[in-house]
Amino acid sequence: MILDEYQILDKVLDVPLKGEDGREFKMGSYKTSHHDVMAEHGLIYKGNIINPKKAILFRINSACYTSDIFGCQRCDCHWQLKKAMDMIHKDGGLIIYHFHHEGRGFGFTSKLKSLQKLSPVDAIFKLHNEFDHRRYYSTVKILNDLGINKIKLITNNPAKQKMLESQNIEVTKRIPLVTDEKHLHDYLVTKKEKLGNIIDFDDKK
Ligand SMILES: [Zn+2]
Repeated sequence: MILDEYQILDKVLDVPLKGEDGREFKMGSYKTSHHDVMAEHGLIYKGNIINPKKAILFRINSACYTSDIFGCQRCDCHWQLKKAMDMIHKDGGLIIYHFHHEGRGFGFTSKLKSLQKLSPVDAIFKLHNEFDHRRYYSTVKILNDLGINKIKLITNNPAKQKMLESQNIEVTKRIPLVTDEKHLHDYLVTKKEKLGNIIDFDDKK
């Protein structure tokens, strides 16, 4: 079983986070390995995430250094992260931030190359002949470790839902995240057409 090839090496939970706006969350971290390749995953959460009795709000958030760190406006990633934080601040839940998912798992250099000329999605395909190199087994490993087996998944990406369900994580509901920022419209259309994301413009926030 592929999941058995992933190991948890270290973890920390319950580190308080007070945001700029005074909102309070908790942070945590998991260090995992897969065939001796190490990866780190940042957790941000509110409320109880250990053996929860009911389905909790949950998001797999792939790193987007260009927007999260440098403020690049060419994708909706940072908007989605902030929106998901608003949701878990209100209703409790967990976001796992995958640092190694930058550039759909191909890395920062690939991502910048892709930003040079073409739309990000097209360019990544040209470079690697694959649209997406992200894997979610470490996510499942972390959810299992926390005793979370029922979630309300915040995503537009049906591949994430399918993968989690195949690993016995019950998705009781999918919650879409669609921005109404006008300059991102074409980017979202590409995501919908090329990556199979479910983008319903009626779901705009
Ligand atoms: Zn992005």
